[in-house]
Amino acid sequence: MTTCNECTNFFPLEDDPSTGDCVQRVVDPRQAYYKSKPVDDETDASKCDQFQKK
Ligand code: SF4
Repeated sequence: MTTCNECTNFFPLEDDPSTGDCVQRVVDPRQAYYKSKPVDDETDASKCDQFQKK
């Protein structure tokens, strides 16, 4: 199974690398920004359309 841990958007926490943040750059016609959400490294990434292999 592909997991968030294999994704370039996954940033593990320093004190607990089994969890971290999914940080995605969002570009819309007026601005670009980052959004982040907490994820576990074992989260199934196969259904994620933003997955990018490290
Ligand atoms: S939720 Fe999607 S984009 Fe975010 S880290 Fe996991 S696979 Fe990557």
